[in-house]
Amino acid sequence: MNVLVINCGSSSLKYQLINSDTEEVLAKGLCERIGIDGMLTYQKAGLDKEVSNPPMPTHKEAIQLVLDALVNEKTGAIKDLSEVNAVGHRIVHGGEKFASSAVITDEMLAAVEECNDLAPLHNPANLIGINACKELMPGVPMVGVFDTAFHQTMPEKAYLYGLPYEYYEKYKVRRYGFHGTSHSFVSKHIAEFLGMDINHSKIIVAHLGNGASISAVKDGKCVDTSMGLTPLEGLVMGTRSGDIDPAIMEFIAKKENLDIAGVMNVLNKKSGVQGISKVSSDFRDLEDGMNNGDKLCEAAIEVFSYRVAKYIGAYVAALNGVDAIAFTAGIGENAPLVREKVMSYLGYLGITLDEEANKNRGKDLIISTPDSKVKVAIIPTNEELAIARETVALVK
Ligand code: ADP
Repeated sequence: MNVLVINCGSSSLKYQLINSDTEEVLAKGLCERIGIDGMLTYQKAGLDKEVSNPPMPTHKEAIQLVLDALVNEKTGAIKDLSEVNAVGHRIVHGGEKFASSAVITDEMLAAVEECNDLAPLHNPANLIGINACKELMPGVPMVGVFDTAFHQTMPEKAYLYGLPYEYYEKYKVRRYGFHGTSHSFVSKHIAEFLGMDINHSKIIVAHLGNGASISAVKDGKCVDTSMGLTPLEGLVMGTRSGDIDPAIMEFIAKKENLDIAGVMNVLNKKSGVQGISKVSSDFRDLEDGMNNGDKLCEAAIEVFSYRVAKYIGAYVAALNGVDAIAFTAGIGENAPLVREKVMSYLGYLGITLDEEANKNRGKDLIISTPDSKVKVAIIPTNEELAIARETVALVK
């Protein structure tokens, strides 16, 4: 079965066509600058990337261009659109309504729309992509896969904030968590990779990308995660602050003469390792800076790694122990320095780092020594494949 995986943002759209039997990516790419001027990237497996600039006034034209590229006589990955058997859509927020992926129907879409308040930038964009696909591919089964769904198993003690309960009752203010598709995929995969029984396991997943979050997974179910009502909470990220004293908001607003939108912009876009280093949100630049003696780049890496280690400590308490820790996403998979720094705090758990193994990047690999009491591994995430698998499971 061929599954088209769509991840639709407000002005961009990522896609992959995956053969779910072989799990091979047949073609992939990206539409950018939708509603501005339009830029299409398309790459058939084994061929070079093609970039073009066709007009893309709305997501509908963008998706039409993707479908045209997929069946293009010369470089198409398939001959006919009938070879797209299902579409899997990433949806950011499913609120408390979706604890798992769901087949897309009119009722289902109405329920997603009710969650728009919780993700006002992302959910409406996701819905536009779904509606455009429905118009262009009538009759093709579609599935929504939610970033929040995996975390819906969290107990009340983990998801309630210390706020007036009526905010939860009236507005559903609570911890939801994000990157759920990745946390689910990686926790299952590390258990398989290490030959563990996931139904009797305590796993911590550190998804360290530009956006970063950690989750505690017991017997295959999420029991806590670091992102909250929005993706701003938790770890120090590329440009997001993560946890701060909430009183800083009023303090900065007064000092810098900012309104609430201005403060939120600082916390989402100008903080994190970018804000600390004054140089970059990218760890490659931070490492270069540190190696050239830039003290703020070094501080950013230290603050980031220390926060990750503190969360791991907290989740060892939440799980009352830990069997395995997975590092995933851009930094988790590719930055030996960060993994080494994080693990340097975890000796008390009987964890020892295999320094040679830790020099590797981007593949399933154990990076703890054979006598380490807890297994630590690099596990590359693959959210598109996870969405394709979920889609197949629901439409078969
Ligand atoms: P997102 O999906 O949130 O955009 P990714 O998971 O793709 O993020 O991670 C992107 C980040 O990964 C980059 O900003 C960079 O900090 C880090 N990264 C990627 N490659 C490397 C590398 N080779 N060495 C160190 N860090 C890297």
